[in-house]
Amino acid sequence: MTIATTNPVTGQVLKTYEAMSDEQLDGAIERTDLAYRQLCGTTLEQRGWWLNTVADLLEAERDEIARLMTTEMGKTLAASKAEVTKCAAACRFYAERAVEFLADEPADARAVSATRAFVRYQPIGPVLAVMPWNFPLWQVMRFAAPALMAGNTGLLKHASNVPQTALLLEDLIRRAGFPEGAFTTLLVGSDAVDRILRDARVRAVTLTGSEVAGRSIAQIAGRELKKTVLELGGSDPFVVMPSADVELAAEVATTARCQNNGQSCIAAKRFIVHTDVYDVFAEAFAHRMSALRVGDPMAEDTDVGPLASERGRDEVDAQVRDAVDKGATVLCGGEKPGGAGWFYPPTVVADLNPGMRMWAEEVFGPVAGLYRVSSYDDAIELANGTAFGLGSNAWTRDPQEQERFATDLEAGSVFINGMTTSYPELPFGGVKNSGYGRELSAQGMHEFCNVKTVWMG
Ligand code: NDP
Repeated sequence: MTIATTNPVTGQVLKTYEAMSDEQLDGAIERTDLAYRQLCGTTLEQRGWWLNTVADLLEAERDEIARLMTTEMGKTLAASKAEVTKCAAACRFYAERAVEFLADEPADARAVSATRAFVRYQPIGPVLAVMPWNFPLWQVMRFAAPALMAGNTGLLKHASNVPQTALLLEDLIRRAGFPEGAFTTLLVGSDAVDRILRDARVRAVTLTGSEVAGRSIAQIAGRELKKTVLELGGSDPFVVMPSADVELAAEVATTARCQNNGQSCIAAKRFIVHTDVYDVFAEAFAHRMSALRVGDPMAEDTDVGPLASERGRDEVDAQVRDAVDKGATVLCGGEKPGGAGWFYPPTVVADLNPGMRMWAEEVFGPVAGLYRVSSYDDAIELANGTAFGLGSNAWTRDPQEQERFATDLEAGSVFINGMTTSYPELPFGGVKNSGYGRELSAQGMHEFCNVKTVWMG
């Protein structure tokens, strides 16, 4: 894939970059290894100060950064600004809480015949981060903030369509004061990942992206015996039961499906509705989806911008066409527009069956699948009947049902009467083909730590 900025509104290539040579790559890895040794010798207070400075820079330069992100991948300017603000908050969170997350954890010394026993969290070294374009700042920062605070360094292989945001990230972290090489952007294609992971100086890898990329990276990391965190795709269920506030559910469903122009791993994608409220929900949902304004992502009144790539838009369209050809019903949208830009209208598709691609595949665009069920058990069977297990949503005011959903949904998170989102305070990740390991919270920080047992006789 060419490393280039291409505006999804026009399809125009704005800037291209040469991939780094092997020599340049080796030099970057050498610098990150040296920076790791330097960072290990700094205090948490010092790293916290640098990370708070990253937050200050993000806040001061928010509008400019947001415009760049929107230009590179098409999310609305409002969404880009919110993403920058969220990144600043995550930096402040880890700057403040790292002392607590990395503190020695005392163990029962008597039980292990020691005078003192405890767990100490220490950094493991340079970590490779292979990241996607959909939240080009947030996906990186939620790895970088805890990793740098813990004393690890980062090598970023960002998606090939967001090179300017990738370079901006390196620049921000350097300007904040972190040692040269503590966080380095590698302008390389995905074919360089094998070489990077074979390098003994690189100790671990984290990926957010597709299942295909996940399988490939996990295979290489397995061969090299390197720790891996994988955050892959999702096809989150959004279950609506008879006791739910159906109007509110339809309103939140619209945001949950169309946030980030429909290109979010934790977007609700399969709307599983109890037959008692199906018709009311379907009408309210389709009405709200078709009322969304699709257009220039830089414009203030736009709700949904273009998809990030032509290939992505063609894929979404092919999935909808496949369903329609096999008998599905389109309640709104469903037609790829002509003209410039990779736009796709918010779409609701009903009457799906297992022979259709939309039944089993993730749809990475503003397209909702609508399913009718007649009981709690049917809802759970359908919700869990997927290879994915990232987020999940259930709408019910029945306390017993809420408890059951919390236990029965096979996913990394369950949100009751709300949409899936990520918070620095809560662990984030999936089960099944959505990946393994966790990001955010203390768990996310500990993924790339040596959890060292210390026993003193
Ligand atoms: P990819 O998985 O292709 O891209 C994500 C990152 O992985 C990019 O940096 C990409 O580099 C890199 N990559 C791709 N293939 C490999 C490989 N074989 N080995 C090593 N690195 C690799 O995602 P796409 O952008 O193509 O999107 C396709 C699908 O991925 C979506 O439909 C969605 O299912 C899923 N996805 C999930 C995301 C999430 O948030 N969980 C985010 C984005 C996508 P390069 O750009 O150079 O190819």
